[in-house]
Amino acid sequence: MDDLFLKISRREIPSACVYDDAHFFAFLDIRPCNKGHVLVIPKTKYRNIFDMNPDEFSALAKVTHTIALAVRKATGADGINIIMNNEAAAGQDVFHAHIHIIPRFTNDGVFTPPTHVTYLDGEAEAYAKKIRERLG
Ligand code: 5GP
Repeated sequence: MDDLFLKISRREIPSACVYDDAHFFAFLDIRPCNKGHVLVIPKTKYRNIFDMNPDEFSALAKVTHTIALAVRKATGADGINIIMNNEAAAGQDVFHAHIHIIPRFTNDGVFTPPTHVTYLDGEAEAYAKKIRERLG
C-alpha cells in the first residue's frame, strides 16, 4: 500500500522537491523547524531504520550528506541537525523512513534545551556493555 511519502516521491502529491534520482527523493518539510528544512527519503518502502540493512542505510546517509552541504550553502546556516526519528516513541509520525536535514542558526531557539538523565554508579558501563554485546 502506498504511503504519503511514496506518493510525494512519485509526485502524486505536490511538494517542494530539492532532489530526485532513481533511488531517493528530497523535499521541504511542510512544517519546517527553520526555512530550508529538508526530508530525504528512499523510494523503496522502509518503515524506518529497523527495516533497513546497513547498505541501504549507508546509501541514504550518503545522499543526505550531499544534500546537507547544499542546504547549508543555500540557507547560510551556522549549523545543521541530521535527525531520524524511528518509531512513535522516538517521535516518528510518518512511517516511511526519512531523514531530517534542519538548518540551524546561532541562538535560533528551535529546540528547547535537551533533557538528560543521569546514570547511577556503574550503570553507564552496564549500558555500554549491553550495546557492545549486541554489536557482535
Ligand atoms: P517525523 O515526525 O515522522 O520524523 O516527521 C515527519 C515530518 O513530515 C514532519 O516534520 C512533518 O511536518 C512532515 N510532513 C508530514 N506530512 C507532510 C506532507 O504532506 N508534506 C510535506 N512536505 N511534509 C510533511
